[in-house]
Amino acid sequence: MFLEGESGDPNTLKRKAGPLSDETEPRSTPSAYAKSALQMMEKKGIPPKPNNFAVWYRYFSGAYPELARTLDVILEAGLPFTEERNAEIYDRFLGVTLDEDFLNDATLRVETELKKLMTYLEEAGTDAQAYGDTLSVVSGELARGDGRKDIRAILEQVIAATRTMEERNQVLETRLKESTGEIRSLKEDVESLRHEAMTDALTGVANRKLFDEEIRIGAAEAMDRGQPLTLLMIDIDHFKNFNDTHGHQVGDQVLRFVARILKSCVRGEDLTARYGGEEFSIVLPNTTLKNGAKVGEHVCTQVSKKAVINRATGKSLGTITVSVGAAEFQPGESVESLIERADEALYLAKHNGRNRVEMGLTTTPGGRGTRQAHP
Ligand code: GH3
Ligand code: MG
Ligand code: MG
Repeated sequence: MFLEGESGDPNTLKRKAGPLSDETEPRSTPSAYAKSALQMMEKKGIPPKPNNFAVWYRYFSGAYPELARTLDVILEAGLPFTEERNAEIYDRFLGVTLDEDFLNDATLRVETELKKLMTYLEEAGTDAQAYGDTLSVVSGELARGDGRKDIRAILEQVIAATRTMEERNQVLETRLKESTGEIRSLKEDVESLRHEAMTDALTGVANRKLFDEEIRIGAAEAMDRGQPLTLLMIDIDHFKNFNDTHGHQVGDQVLRFVARILKSCVRGEDLTARYGGEEFSIVLPNTTLKNGAKVGEHVCTQVSKKAVINRATGKSLGTITVSVGAAEFQPGESVESLIERADEALYLAKHNGRNRVEMGLTTTPGGRGTRQAHP
């Protein structure tokens, strides 16, 4: 969707020319990218950590145009590369940064609890065995009824054994409860970290990683169940103008505003994600193209009818609009092809005047597409 250097901003052009690398070296080698990345990091005061390096290396390698574009926007706006911003960019484009110390600690905690549980259960088994032995000895004595032992003594023996068993059981129950509690709290910690790693920090909707996972799962399920699935690609109209006029911070506010509206337009099983930059996507399981397009129209209406208010000044900044491309998954096609068709429809929506929904082409084997019929 983004065209490299389209905005003509100096950083994009610089990156293409590779001015930060040594001019005597070929500019498109891994070592040249690494060198440029380190020089840029030093220049911008970015801590030389592996994740930061991974981000800047890819900025120069050009393998991640969306990442490069986002960094260009930040460079252009002269915003500082704080720890949070670095982490956010890494998370958004490159990977899940589950804290390693946490993971090591969590693994250790689970192992300890499992060992404890095994010991408790072994002890409980031994106790139950001893109890059973006592009972069978006693019942043998009773059956023989030879009066060698008085019945009171036998009963006392049974009562004592039962009490011991009860106490042991109580200890076991308490220990089991403690272990279950510890394991449950660990599970919650892991789940909340995973949730964080899959959420776009700016807007609170799913991030690109979760989208990539979910669309694949959704498409596979749609095939299995013979159900439709529709994908919407949503792009804010003339957002560059908006940013240029009101500033990047207000632009960020608009991204949150749009994300909130998108979420309010879909059902629980639908997935709203930030696809990149000012582009969102919605995966609509069990939804036909016609119904998906209706959701898209609802989105357009809801976004365009609400005024954007500048939180800092309370002033209205007018309204914004979005364009939507919709495509229905065709059994057997790749997810990439589905995304491409939704993207083409989005492009058409832009071309046809923006603030509207267009539907994707269907793929025909080995040939050009035909417009997907409005069912
Ligand atoms: P169109 O209607 O054709 O989509 O035009 P546009 O201006 O929205 O599209 P273009 O691709 O030219 O510009 C997208 C802009 O989105 C560029 C950049 O300023 C802005 N942008 C991308 N990511 C962010 C972000 O995280 N925060 C902010 N504030 N702006 C962003
Ligand atoms: Mg865009
Ligand atoms: Mg746009």
